Amino acid sequence: MTVLPLYVAGNWRPGRGAPLITRNPANNEVLASVSTASIEDVDEAVQAAQVAMQNPAWRDLLPHQRAGYLHRIAALIERDSEKLAQLQRQDNGKPILETRALVASAAGTFRFFAAACETLEGDITPSRGNYLSLSLHEPLGVIAAITPWNSPIASEAQKVAPALAAGNAVIVKPSEFSPLLALELAKLAEEAGLPKGLLSVLPGTGTVTGPALVAHPGIAKVTFTGGTATGRAIGHVAAEKIMPVSLELGGKSPNIVFADADIEQAINGVLFGIFSSQGQSCIAGSRIFIEEPIYAGFRDRLVERTKALRIGDPVSERTQIGPLITPQQRDKVEGYVKLAQQEGGRLLCGGTRPTDPALQDGNYFTPALIENLSNRCRTAQEEIFGPVGILLPFRDEATLIHDANDTVFGLASGIWTGDFRRAWRIGRALNAGTVWVNTYKQFSIATAFGGNAESGLGREKGRDGIKAYMRQKSVYVDMSGRSIPWAD
Ligand code: NAD
Repeated sequence: MTVLPLYVAGNWRPGRGAPLITRNPANNEVLASVSTASIEDVDEAVQAAQVAMQNPAWRDLLPHQRAGYLHRIAALIERDSEKLAQLQRQDNGKPILETRALVASAAGTFRFFAAACETLEGDITPSRGNYLSLSLHEPLGVIAAITPWNSPIASEAQKVAPALAAGNAVIVKPSEFSPLLALELAKLAEEAGLPKGLLSVLPGTGTVTGPALVAHPGIAKVTFTGGTATGRAIGHVAAEKIMPVSLELGGKSPNIVFADADIEQAINGVLFGIFSSQGQSCIAGSRIFIEEPIYAGFRDRLVERTKALRIGDPVSERTQIGPLITPQQRDKVEGYVKLAQQEGGRLLCGGTRPTDPALQDGNYFTPALIENLSNRCRTAQEEIFGPVGILLPFRDEATLIHDANDTVFGLASGIWTGDFRRAWRIGRALNAGTVWVNTYKQFSIATAFGGNAESGLGREKGRDGIKAYMRQKSVYVDMSGRSIPWAD
């Protein structure tokens, strides 16, 4: 089998690390063998990126010229959108309707940051003397972008687009479980004419390639999306280097249903919140709080609707639940269902491997709902990253807010109610980077995203997203022509 090359410093060549195999989660067949980057490859990419960034051909571009590259990449993503969506579906097992949406969002992200690049303004700040004081923003340097497997191309675009828009060079290390889309993005950037060295894509492991990038003295910032434990390890290295880092980490988000909610809408929102992407989503609404008066009826209807979800091959537009990323991930999720039962939980549906012979070769797992657990038990506290929802009845607002916030995470939340004053009150009280009211998992590239507490550090997206890849500089310009009195 041919081994796919790396994209290092503008060249496609084999990596010096051991190749990795990526498999289709729907049948576990080998999809590709991919070169990985060694420490030497990382060093070569960083050095080339430093040179490329300082080259006047990039450094001195006017904003609209730099934006032009991003617009061209966006157009190429759109041109190849179906091919990219199908490849992502094969590489990570998300149903095709979801991967199409992710590819479209990646193109939109490049366009948005092209506009952010063109409209970025410095400030004239109020001076306290006879001088002009300015606040400017400059590129940071070489950015390391490390991404997880659950939303390839969208995750990479969210980092590469603002980093390039800000005038940096970027090195992407995609997940070892879904490296193919980042390599496709590199091909499109090359076709868009992006100068060599500004983007390298280095597939590799989290034990060699990732740490080598983070520790490299030539890396000016790490932008990371992935698990909290990995984020913490990267944060330690960043502290040693006094290096800025942004961390988009895990979650255990509350999705809260009040008795006065539109019940059918709430059921759809709860199902989508926990079971889309097979629950392999940082923002999954995995703790489902339900107000006591409607608890039993809501639970029964939710169970009925969960059993009716369509599990199947992600190639079908009818599929709602595809396979989990790896057999190991399925084992882990299955282990949590067993743990929940040991903790006293009652399994209401799912939590098993499907019996359909057509699904035997893939990492499929039926969506599970569990009740009779305390919010403090491990299953309600730890991120499962699979299709497992925990049902938690609540009686009053004070206990609800306490329990909803009683987690190490603070990523997202949902509130279902007909009372907008209550939505406002609860939304303001929740410790979460995002609050959805009568909706869930809706996004705009123009709106910032990020987590509180152990869900992360910093924000991505939004107009200020470009500034996450820049450093501020203050400039004072004398307007008086007089010399400084102290020295006279
Ligand atoms: P992970 O932390 O295992 O890996 C993420 C990336 O980090 C991979 O590319 C991996 O190779 C690399 N890596 C691992 N150890 C490293 C190290 N020591 N130094 C440098 N790089 C290292 O996460 P995962 O299993 O790929 O993804 C799932 C996790 O990602 C979940 O916890 C999920 O909540 C989180 N996630 C968060 C967001 C968000 O925006 N907050 C979005 C998607 C996923």
